[in-house]
Amino acid sequence: MPLRRLFDYLAPPGAVAGELSRGMRIRVPFGRRRLVGILIEVAERSSIPPAKLKPALEIIDREPVFDERLLEFLLWAADYYHHPLGEVLATALPVALREGAAARGIDERWQLTRTGRDEAAGIPGGRAPRQRALVERLAQSAASPTELESLGPRWRETLRHVVARGWVESIEAPLSIATLSAGIVTPGPNLTDAQAGVLRALTAASGKFAVSLLHGVTGSGKTEVYLRVAEELLHANQQTLVLVPEIALTPQLVGRFSERFTTSLAIIHSSLSEGERLAAWRRARSGEAGIVIGTRSAVFTPLARPGVIIVDEEHDGSYKQQEGFRYSARDLAIVRAQRFGVPVILGSATPSLESLENARAGRYSRLLLPERPGAARHPRVAIVDLRHHVAHEGLATPTVDSITRHLQAGGQVLVYLNRRGYAPTLFCPGCAWLAPCQACDARLTVHLRSQRLRCHHCGAQEAMPLACPQCGHEVKPVGQGTERVEDLLRDRYPEVQMARLDRDSVRRKGDLQSILSRVASGEARILVGTQMLTKGHHFPDVTLVVIVNADQGLFSADFRASERLAQTIVQVAGRAGRASRPGEVLVQTEFPEHPLLKSLLTSGYDGFAAAALEERAQAEWPPFSRLALLRADARDAQAPFEFLDAAREAGNLSQHGAVQLFGPVAASMARRAGRHHAQLLAQSRSRAALHRFLARWVTALEAIKPRQGLHWSLDVDPQDLM
Ligand SMILES: [Zn+2]
Ligand SMILES: [Zn+2]
Repeated sequence: MPLRRLFDYLAPPGAVAGELSRGMRIRVPFGRRRLVGILIEVAERSSIPPAKLKPALEIIDREPVFDERLLEFLLWAADYYHHPLGEVLATALPVALREGAAARGIDERWQLTRTGRDEAAGIPGGRAPRQRALVERLAQSAASPTELESLGPRWRETLRHVVARGWVESIEAPLSIATLSAGIVTPGPNLTDAQAGVLRALTAASGKFAVSLLHGVTGSGKTEVYLRVAEELLHANQQTLVLVPEIALTPQLVGRFSERFTTSLAIIHSSLSEGERLAAWRRARSGEAGIVIGTRSAVFTPLARPGVIIVDEEHDGSYKQQEGFRYSARDLAIVRAQRFGVPVILGSATPSLESLENARAGRYSRLLLPERPGAARHPRVAIVDLRHHVAHEGLATPTVDSITRHLQAGGQVLVYLNRRGYAPTLFCPGCAWLAPCQACDARLTVHLRSQRLRCHHCGAQEAMPLACPQCGHEVKPVGQGTERVEDLLRDRYPEVQMARLDRDSVRRKGDLQSILSRVASGEARILVGTQMLTKGHHFPDVTLVVIVNADQGLFSADFRASERLAQTIVQVAGRAGRASRPGEVLVQTEFPEHPLLKSLLTSGYDGFAAAALEERAQAEWPPFSRLALLRADARDAQAPFEFLDAAREAGNLSQHGAVQLFGPVAASMARRAGRHHAQLLAQSRSRAALHRFLARWVTALEAIKPRQGLHWSLDVDPQDLM
């Protein structure tokens, strides 16, 4: 339940002393419902009078679903993010377990003990019919939970009684060590000197907590380092947990692991069925899976013998959950590693400014992979100044000339822009009407292929009008999306095969693979796409990368926008020239003099990061301060402000100057999906001071009676201030 408190129950009837331990699931009555709860503490007394305490209904687990260390880690996370514990614990469990499914898989079997065999005949038939039925069933053969379910819904309770009497025992064959370490098949390629050096440093750091920031330029072979680390740990009978931003977009990384090892891989991501998810969770927990690869929520996966946590593309924004329990999987991976006493590796070609600052301050060790293996060379980056070269349909003449040149030389071309669809909006030249979303303060995007207008914020869509609904004038699409740039290039190069990679082009299963293989085989020679292009795909024959517009990130109100822009440019540019062909990168911009863009182009990502960190230090933005954002939204435009004004008042009462409050202000898109959004920012130079403040503030916020239908949430370390 989304409540910041615990509930007390009596032990279930018949529970045997010592049977209850923290982290077990129990079934409890809750109002008129029966819910699954997690046992947090066993106590001798309660503040609730005994007469009012209800007994729990049953114990679901024989052993905790969260072991002591994992439970402590989750309690810490709930505390740090000031989020209701129940929702935190639920996030950490597959849905099937939240609903009470067995934590043990088919490996769980039950059999009669010798005593059980001897005494089974002596069970009085009339007094304990269920026990008798269970024992008679097991007298035939050992049985799994599925087989025992035919005995009725309360078979587990019955089982506990006969186990307590010493008549029945479980037979779970412990997994042999051989299962893990026999799992290596293909030897990897020879390591470069840089890779070998990094591996030595990582090996030296193994067996204890340490954070290594593996800063390797795109194509420098970070994945090979991960594979070697995992291999060493498999030999030592330990598990590797790899976090990735999005599994569907990174099939190559998963492929590399599954090709290298025959050990059982547990892959955990959002498009698994609930059954598959539960099976992967079980294999990770039992230790059967030597390697666990998963997205954000996999940071909570129980591991029998954790050896290392790897966070690939640690800068990626998708590690931050943006609703409900708003945690950062990257940050929690570090906390978990610390609590479990294992090393953590943060890998990226474009590390977050937070991680770079931690490395600079000596909290993380920074390991560099500066060279590309083999003959691959770094691409040359040039600016196309849009003030001097007018762009037709998004592409300026020098850009088109370069594309022609690279195609003629047999190269492949990659064109990046961060807008899917045909055009960002539909415009009427007669009366200046712009197609609006009815539910958001946003324009509808033109999707010409499907003849629809779509809102990329709330999902609303409608048929595309041919004439202006206000004045009847003919309307026209304005601006560029991936579809439009694709059309332009098709007109320009009718002989050349093309592919487009964005969320619209990979709607069906297999679409992504088929696009990637058309590019990899060289059949498609021009690839137009969005951010999806940055996700680690390997296109060895791409010699030219075009960034259609660099400007959106330069003047955003969000202090992280320039960091994201620099990361995108470097990541997209990294797709060029990865084999022996030298690459070229063209960045189209109207602001070639912008200082951050200049530092990026003249001194690379490191130069950009140094300049951007300097700017953050002066403005006291993270990592030089800590933030928490209180958001509120409601159908009524005033309600969020009323709530946040009250919140501000409550905050002022209890602060001591170490925490400053800014706002409330409307969110940058105030109306989304018919609801009005506003926010209040809390900032402090001291993390400890901020958290002392938040602990008191949350209690005060819960005492505010908001208007009906108002939602509020607290986001600690927000990624997005918009
Ligand atoms: Zn009009
Ligand atoms: Zn909308």
